[in-house]
Amino acid sequence: MFETVIGLEVHVQLNTKTKLFCACPTSFAAQQNINTCPTCLALPGALPVVNQEAAVKAMRLGYSINGNVNHTSYFDRKSYFYPDSPTAYQITQLTKAIVQKGEVFIDLADGTQKRIGMTQAHLEADAGKNMHEGDHSKVDLNRAGTPLLEIVSDPDMRNSDEAVAYLKKLHSMVRYIDISDANMQEGSFRCDVNVSIRPKGQEAFGTRVEIKNINSFKFVAQAIAYEVQRQTEAYEDGVYETEVNQETRLWNVEKGITKSMRGKEEAADYRYFPDPDLRPLIVTQTMIDEAKMMPELPDAKIKRYVEELGIKSDDARVITSDKEMAYYFEAMLAQGATPKTAVTWLTSELLGRLKKAGFAILNSPIDAQTLGLLVAKISDSTISGKGGKELLDYMMLNESRDIVALIDTLGLAQVSDDGAILAIIDKILLNNSDKVEQYKGGKEKLFGFFVGQTMKASKGAANPSKVNELLKDRLG
Ligand code: ADP
Ligand code: MG
Ligand code: ZN
Repeated sequence: MFETVIGLEVHVQLNTKTKLFCACPTSFAAQQNINTCPTCLALPGALPVVNQEAAVKAMRLGYSINGNVNHTSYFDRKSYFYPDSPTAYQITQLTKAIVQKGEVFIDLADGTQKRIGMTQAHLEADAGKNMHEGDHSKVDLNRAGTPLLEIVSDPDMRNSDEAVAYLKKLHSMVRYIDISDANMQEGSFRCDVNVSIRPKGQEAFGTRVEIKNINSFKFVAQAIAYEVQRQTEAYEDGVYETEVNQETRLWNVEKGITKSMRGKEEAADYRYFPDPDLRPLIVTQTMIDEAKMMPELPDAKIKRYVEELGIKSDDARVITSDKEMAYYFEAMLAQGATPKTAVTWLTSELLGRLKKAGFAILNSPIDAQTLGLLVAKISDSTISGKGGKELLDYMMLNESRDIVALIDTLGLAQVSDDGAILAIIDKILLNNSDKVEQYKGGKEKLFGFFVGQTMKASKGAANPSKVNELLKDRLG
């Protein structure tokens, strides 16, 4: 039997206004090579200057994973030639990264949590893009010098579920702390998956393979499954030493396989050395204060939702997995919705309808204020749960969000007024005096009949719990 060992490297594109070492904008440009300057074009004599916003964002990640934020860190050059990198080296942080150590907690299927150790998070500059068209290639340097934060985990994951849970957690965290839009399809959240196997009980790690080119959580799981099988078969066939090499492999989406891309270079091959153009990155108190300004993180939210709002921890996890959902939920509460009812109406009633209509929470046609008010109207018995669903269905198809007016026009107001309900009850009891006798004689099943008749007579408008309460009262 074998054990799988996984470590992940995630490249997050930081959402700074300008590039890592120059003042060029990072925003999208329709024209190629327009967001460039002598520094990111690597023209002779141009010098890099560190972007403080990028450093602060890296530090914020450091604080959010409980890591060590180094007050002095260094930039190194990693030498290699590639047409989309005019410097012929990448500026990165090898010897002392801005963030070292740290931890992330992931939720396992059995309800327990597991700690994943973090190795480090370092700043580095992205390359440009090569574009191949017919028999020639073009280079676009708009992206060259864009800040990346490479977040490296310890080899602490033992199966693909853990790897995906870790990635989802990290993805959600970087979005909460707003350091990246973390769009996987567009490449602002990229991950390299390192996989090895070892016989159960063996302490030494096996040979790791690094898989690149994976752009969705689903493919992460598929690539790991493929690689574990390939390595296991090699082991069982006695060819592990020759077939499993420390190398970089590419994930092939169409074929669902990994393919060898290149042998893994050793650090020495890159001729790393401290960048002589850059001074040490020294963190100031202002930067620390700014980096520490962060919103409530998902783990803290879960704890608060469970302990203070009385929400089930599974529900709290679902709601906080995505910052838009958590903010939606909190905005509902601000409208007077009670927490438990808000959970139900958000997670099953609204999400169900959004899914059917092809919307995400971010572009929901019904905003949190409206849903919050609707739920508050159910909680205070103005409308019934059934009426609430009717109202929600109506709003999914219509423009108006005037809850109060809609309750009126759709005739959804519930009668909770004792006097009005009692008047109906008394009439029902009078018209069914024989059944009242039978009920009093012990035929208690008839209670349901009286409830049904009262509801019917009120055309469904009576508040059911009020009807129950008043009937019990009247029948003694
Ligand atoms: P490189 O820059 O060569 O990719 P790093 O040190 O940056 O190396 O990253 C190594 C990654 O591989 C880390 O995420 C680490 O957890 C993981 N890793 C190291 N050894 C193993 C192993 N035997 N099996 C699986 N993952 C591993
Ligand atoms: Mg690496
Ligand atoms: Zn530039």
